[in-house]
Amino acid sequence: MVVYAFQCAEHGPIDVRFTIGTAPPTSGCPRCGSPMRRLFSPPGLRLASRPLVAVLDRAERSRTDPEVVTSLPRRAHHGSRRPNPAHARLPRP
Ligand SMILES: [Zn+2]
Repeated sequence: MVVYAFQCAEHGPIDVRFTIGTAPPTSGCPRCGSPMRRLFSPPGLRLASRPLVAVLDRAERSRTDPEVVTSLPRRAHHGSRRPNPAHARLPRP
């Protein structure tokens, strides 16, 4: 089953499930029964949130056009950060 988007004149966009490839160009609104027009949307893009898409776009862009920095990033919690107690058990040279 695949989710297809339809547009109801009264209720706006509504998702309806059909077997892949069997979605009709029009369907009845599950709320009011009026005919709905099928909307076309890119597959899979509705699953990703805007922040995730922004991160993925930035990572993709860094392949060919990496951001250039002029200084090291500032550490926000430098000094107040407690050391990991497990590090005390590590062997010393
Ligand atoms: Zn409706």
